[in-house]
Amino acid sequence: MNFEKAKQELLEWLAIPSVSTLSERNADTRKAAEYLHQKLLSLGLNSSILETAGHPVVYAEHLKADPTAPTVLLYGHYDVQPTDPDNEWTTAPFAPDIRDNAIYARGSTDDKGQVWAHVAALEHHLQTNRQLPVNLKILIEGEEEIGSPNLKPFVLEQAAKLKCDVVVISDGSMFAPGVPTLTTGLRGLCYLEVHVQGAKQDLHSGGYGGAVANPIQALAQIIQSLRNGNGEILIPGIYDSVRPVPEAELEGWKRLPFDEAALMKSLEVSALPGEPGYSVLERLWARPTLEINGIWGGFQGEGQKTVLPAKAGAKISLRLVPDQAPDEIFELVKKHIQSLELLGVTVSVKKLHTGNPALVDSSSPAALAAIAALERAYPNTEPSFVRTGGTIPVVAVFREVLNAPVLLVDYGLPDDGAHGPNERFTLECFEKGIETSIYLYEELAKLKT
Ligand SMILES: [Zn+2]
Repeated sequence: MNFEKAKQELLEWLAIPSVSTLSERNADTRKAAEYLHQKLLSLGLNSSILETAGHPVVYAEHLKADPTAPTVLLYGHYDVQPTDPDNEWTTAPFAPDIRDNAIYARGSTDDKGQVWAHVAALEHHLQTNRQLPVNLKILIEGEEEIGSPNLKPFVLEQAAKLKCDVVVISDGSMFAPGVPTLTTGLRGLCYLEVHVQGAKQDLHSGGYGGAVANPIQALAQIIQSLRNGNGEILIPGIYDSVRPVPEAELEGWKRLPFDEAALMKSLEVSALPGEPGYSVLERLWARPTLEINGIWGGFQGEGQKTVLPAKAGAKISLRLVPDQAPDEIFELVKKHIQSLELLGVTVSVKKLHTGNPALVDSSSPAALAAIAALERAYPNTEPSFVRTGGTIPVVAVFREVLNAPVLLVDYGLPDDGAHGPNERFTLECFEKGIETSIYLYEELAKLKT
């Protein structure tokens, strides 16, 4: 494997500012798609740039003569987050810099570096064996950082073309340096907004206070009724469909090198409160949570204004775990809020966004192939099964539309600074990522189809 070459190419790709959310970067975003497309063509893959209603998708195939070989779909994204605050970067985000054994640039770990680890692995197989061990389809999108608005329609439309036996994604982080990791669970999401309306307009708090309901007070009562100080959610029925974590998985989590004190120190907090009886990792990965994300109402300016406001509201999100269904959870929350007796105000609850939780069966043939690849890349370390507290909506899309298992084999590190200033991808992670990918395609070739 030619690591120097892979590194130089990644540096060139990282220099293209493919910030999908900024329309002034649209031409650059397309340029990043074009760069990848040209590389895949040069490897002999049947690559094309497919238009969507937004940024294009790079789609490529390399199908073997043997149609019974397993088909792998590699997913990733070539778009990146904005870079502000720019003054916090040591070197410019789109002038990739190598220092302290890491590549510093926006997109280095999320996700261009991890995509390129796969590209370099494919190049290795094609140069050594003239072919890949599996039938391969590659789908690299340009809208992940803006919520993949066009991906589901694309996958639905192209479902026949995208048919595969397994989906591979490297777009996250290992549990810790040197801990080869397979991510087996993702939380889902239910995002909603609560609006409380009192009188038709803001009123004088002296002239009306005592007679007219205050929507902020009502909102506070609503929020107070949703969860207690321990983080336990008080909405009836909310825990009914929560699937317990298998004992063996819990035992594995206990062996992970997780340091609560270090986490508190890094966040500058004095405690990590949460549901009694559950470890921090259980609370992050396998328990539902409810957070108030924002709140508004009344006078917020300098000084004082004796107002009895007409409106108040809050943005609220729940992280969900298997087998909670986001739409059912929304109905439970809505029903609960509407059951509260709040005189003199009207309350509306609006659903903004949902995403399904997901689990990968860690004893499935695909997961075992990933474990075998990790064992070959890290001969002296037992791979760890972890979950993540976040949500990757595309995982649910692939599972639902393509009915294929999704393998999350992540090559970054938790402190790579994805989405923040000084994002980096360590050279060691990059090199190990290429190596793991090489083995992964070999191991997946053994899957029966
Ligand atoms: Zn990403």
